[in-house]
Amino acid sequence: MAPATVPTLDDLEVRRKRVLLRVDFNVPLDGESVADDTRIRAALPTIRTLQEREAKLVIATHLGRPKGKVDPSYSVIPAAARLAELLDTEVVFAHSTVGDEVTQLANELPPGGVMVLENLRFDPGETAGDPAFAKALAANGEVFVNDAFGAMHRSHASITGVPEHLPCAAGPLVQRELEALGALLDPQQRLQRAPFAAILGGAKVSDKIGVIEALSRHLDHLFVGGAMAYTFLAAQDEPVGASRVEADKVELAGTLLEKCRARGVHVHLPQDHVVATEFSEHAEPSTVATLADGQMGLDIGPDTLRAWTEVLSSCRTVFWNGPMGVFEWDSFSGGTRGVAESLATASAKTIVGGGDSAAALARFGLSDAMDHVSTGGGASLEYLEQGDLVGLQALRRS
Ligand code: ADP
Ligand code: MG
Repeated sequence: MAPATVPTLDDLEVRRKRVLLRVDFNVPLDGESVADDTRIRAALPTIRTLQEREAKLVIATHLGRPKGKVDPSYSVIPAAARLAELLDTEVVFAHSTVGDEVTQLANELPPGGVMVLENLRFDPGETAGDPAFAKALAANGEVFVNDAFGAMHRSHASITGVPEHLPCAAGPLVQRELEALGALLDPQQRLQRAPFAAILGGAKVSDKIGVIEALSRHLDHLFVGGAMAYTFLAAQDEPVGASRVEADKVELAGTLLEKCRARGVHVHLPQDHVVATEFSEHAEPSTVATLADGQMGLDIGPDTLRAWTEVLSSCRTVFWNGPMGVFEWDSFSGGTRGVAESLATASAKTIVGGGDSAAALARFGLSDAMDHVSTGGGASLEYLEQGDLVGLQALRRS
C-alpha cells in the first residue's frame, strides 16, 4: 500500500481568507499554565506559514476530556496564552466555538491575524460527530486545514464533519506523519527498509494486536517487551509468576506468534526480567531469568537488552511503540532507557509512536535522536493497521 495521498496546503487558496485550522493543543496543564508546550511548538511552522500567506487564522483544538460540558479546568486559555508568547503576537480568544459572535470576531481578523477558539469538547457535538455542530464550526472559516494528526482516527465533528462544508487540506505536520509512517508500509520501499524491526511494549496486548498483525507482513524482527510480553510468554507455557497477563488474550497471542513465525519474522521475547514482589515504585528490584511464583516482571533484564541491542544494530528501519517496563519508576526504567539509547546510536531509521513511548524519550532527553516521533499514539497505530484514517478520507472526499 502506498502512503495515502491527501490535498496539502499548496492546493488551497488561503490569502485573506478565514482559515479554520484544527490543531492538537491537547497539552498537559499545571493549574493555569501549560506544563509541556511541545504540541504548541510543533504547530508553529504551520501557523507561521499560514500567516505569511496572509490567512486569517481561526485555530480550534480539544483539550482533555471535559465530556461535552463547559469545565474551566479544561479551558484552552492557557494554551492560547502560550501560543501568543511563542508567536510574539496578539492572539484573540473566543470564549466559545460556534455562533455569530465567534464568526464576527473571525471576520474582524486582519490578514495574518490569529484567533483561538475555546475547547471543542465543551460541546457534546464534537465527540458525537454531530453534523449540526460541524456545520456551525465550519461557518468560522472559508477553508479548512487539519493538522491534528493525533485526532485523525476519530469521527469527531471537527475531523470528519467540517470537511463536508469547506475546501480543505492536511497541514504540514500531518504530511510529515504520513511520510514517516507510510514509509513503513510502502511495498516499493521494502528493500530499502530491510532489515526492518518493530519493538512493541506497553501495557495491553489488546491495544496492539492490530498493529502486530499488520506489521508482521513487513517485518524481519519483532521484539516484544513491557507487560505485553508476559501474555506472549504465557502462550509459550513459560512461567510468568505474578506478572500482568491478559488471560483472555493468551490464545490470541499464541496465534499471532505462529503467524509471525510462518511469515518468517524472527520473534524475540525477553530472556531475563527485572522483577519485584509488589507493584510499587519502592519495591526491591531483582533480576531473574525465570520468574518464580509471586514475582512480577516490571522491566526487561540486562541480558535481553544486550541481545536485542545487537540485533537492532544490524537493522535499517526500526519502529518502536510502548515502553519495555514501568519506565515511570527509576528501578524499572532501565530497559526502556536502554532501548532508547540503542536506537539513538543505531544507524537505523527510527520511528516512534505512542504517547508513553514519546514521554519516555522526552524524559531521557532522546527525542531529537530519533528520526520521527509521532504526535499521535492511537492515530499512528491505526494508520499502520489500516493504511488510512477517517480524518484523511474526509479531506480527500471534499
Ligand atoms: P504507549 O502509550 O507508548 O502506546 P502503552 O500505553 O501501551 O504505551 O503502555 C504504557 C504503560 O505500560 C506505562 O504506563 C508502563 O508503566 C506500563 N508497563 C510497561 N511494562 C509494564 C510491566 N511489565 N508491568 C506493568 N506495566 C507495564
Ligand atoms: Mg499510553
